[in-house]
Amino acid sequence: MDLCQLCDQHDPTGSQLCPACTTATRVRLECLPALYDGLLPFLAPSSAIGQGRSGKGGHAPLPVREDILDLRGVMVGTLEDWLSAVRQERGMRQHPARRRGVDGRLDAAVEGLLRHMPWITVSWSEAGLFAGEIRDLARDVQSIVAPAVDTVRGTRIGTCPAVHDDGGVCGAVLRLGHGETVVRCDWCSTAWPPATWAQLKAWQDEDQAAAA
Ligand SMILES: [Zn+2]
Ligand SMILES: [Zn+2]
Repeated sequence: MDLCQLCDQHDPTGSQLCPACTTATRVRLECLPALYDGLLPFLAPSSAIGQGRSGKGGHAPLPVREDILDLRGVMVGTLEDWLSAVRQERGMRQHPARRRGVDGRLDAAVEGLLRHMPWITVSWSEAGLFAGEIRDLARDVQSIVAPAVDTVRGTRIGTCPAVHDDGGVCGAVLRLGHGETVVRCDWCSTAWPPATWAQLKAWQDEDQAAAA
């Protein structure tokens, strides 16, 4: 019997990964650049807070957070290692010099892996290991940038910190619906995609501190 390498369930297609795990792996890969961007506000917490809404800013910058910097490095390194393993297995020339900056390297590795997904899914004996590592990576980063998701009622994500024209804070309760990836305020319709969640949290904390 053919088992999916990731979920150990019977796979009627006889591939390395079942259709559900293939789709999930693709989606995780596609989400990684946004998750990577979502870590940015965590790098230097004090400079991320207070800018963009009031335009005042003015906090003295704290040193960059090493653990977040490391995690971003791990993301890039992991993806590049897998891409180079795939290319080697397929007898392809390794990419020459890395021309792009770190951010560009992550996008390039994701693009490359997505291009190889059909082959990985059908033929690669390492497909399960690869898919498992991508799942763990996405989960690790998500646990930092996004709150835990309540799959039944939708997760309460605090209150909307959008500032209206009159200078007042919106304050409506935000929820992330099951299966949705963007938090949308029902009251003022501001959209909060994953890349903004760290900033969202920072503003909420700021509002809470101001209210206290
Ligand atoms: Zn599976
Ligand atoms: Zn709102």
